This record gives sequence, structure tokens and C-alpha cells, in this order.
Amino acid sequence: MRLDAHASTDPGPVRDNNEDALFVDADAGLFAVADGMGGHASGEVASQIAVDTIRDILESDGDPDETRLERATAQPGEAVRERIRYAMNQASLRIRRAAQQNPVHAGMGTTLAVLLIDGPVAHYGHVGDSRIYHYRDGQLTRLTRDHTVVQQEVDAGRLTPELARLVPHKNILTQSVGYHGPVEPDTATRPIQPGDLFLLCSDGLTDPFDDATLADTLRRLPADEDLAAELVRHAIAAGSEDNVTVVIVRVLG
Ligand code: CA
Repeated sequence: MRLDAHASTDPGPVRDNNEDALFVDADAGLFAVADGMGGHASGEVASQIAVDTIRDILESDGDPDETRLERATAQPGEAVRERIRYAMNQASLRIRRAAQQNPVHAGMGTTLAVLLIDGPVAHYGHVGDSRIYHYRDGQLTRLTRDHTVVQQEVDAGRLTPELARLVPHKNILTQSVGYHGPVEPDTATRPIQPGDLFLLCSDGLTDPFDDATLADTLRRLPADEDLAAELVRHAIAAGSEDNVTVVIVRVLG
């Protein structure tokens, strides 16, 4: 499939630095967003290591064992999903090593959302609360489930999604790349078709918007617009105080 991508990131009106990082390679079909955390500029170090590692590993030649794994599991795409999980764990290792080498970065970590489009399917994986959405025929579907304490409360039925958006500790993560050591990314594969749109974002986009508002905004924006830049602009206008990062991927055919 031919792809077209736009990306935009902004520190927002409150923060001095931008701890988000992004990676876009439409030719390779590889996209990533990371939202770093940690004092002394550590967040931006962690998020950059994360997206660099994703590029290094997922754009290098595949492991010859993968074909065997694919045959052994008989689950389409499992070898690619395993490679995404491996790359995310390598990112975690590299971040911890960087923190050991420079104690000023101790405790740094990052979210990581990865989309890999390969022929007629999209593989994706994530750790933390950066999200991936799929938009088709005016319908927006959230593909990722936040790794947050609040999401666990929602899943357990102790909190409604509406209240979850308002609680002060909503950004506490249950796992993050680097900080938490080995990670267990959620991964999945879905078929794609021309006209599909994928959206990767940091929580700076989704803090001021619920999914219904995000879907409305996408429906209203002209399709030929740079949607990434427009969504970042909308998030800041709606009061986002965080760094805002958006990657938009269109499947052209
Ligand atoms: Ca953030």
C-alpha cells in the first residue's frame, strides 16, 4: 500500500522543553511516538532513544528465525509482533543503560507507540498512554488501551470513563519503557484498505479531547489538510498544557 504521512509536535504553551519524540518513515511504513518522563531533560533523552531503537531494529534486515517462528505459531503476523515487542524491550534496555552511564538521568522512562504497515495489514504495539487510533468512514476507533492506574480502575468497573478523564492521577502509568525494566507491550494486527487513516499521539492531544470530540474534529477538517498540524493546533486552543505530538498516516492504495 502507498502511504502518506504528516507529523507535528509542539511543546505547548506551558512547558519549556518538548519531551515527546516521533519517527516517520512512510516508505518503510514505520511510525512511532514516544512521550518521555524524568527530571533534568531526561524525558527527551528517553523518548529519543526509544524511537531511535525502533528505527534501528525494525528497519534492519529481519531475523532469519522469524520465518520459522511464523510457521511454528501458524498465527499470521505473530513473527512481526514478536519483533515489535523485542524492539520495545531493547529500547527499555538502552534507556536503562544510558541512565546508568549518566546518573543525572536516573529513573527516566517513556511511553512508546509503534505502527508498522506491511502490505495489506497494520501491526502495532504500545506501552504507556500514548495512543493509536484508526479512522475509517467517519468512525474513530481507539486501538490501544492505556497502561495507566486509571484505566485499570475503569476496566474493573470502579470508575467511569468520563470521571477517569478528571482524576488528578490520571497520568500514572502501570508500565513505561526504561523505567519499568522489561516491558509487556500490547500488540495486534489488523487489515487495512485505501482511505484508512491512522493517528498516533501523545496524551497532550487526548487530555483536552474525549474520543467523540476527536472524531468530530477529524470529520470537520478538510481531508487534504495537514491533519497533524491542525490537531496539534486544536489541542493547544482547547487548553492542552502538555507537549502535543501527532502523527497521521493515510493509506492511499
Ligand atoms: Ca505527555
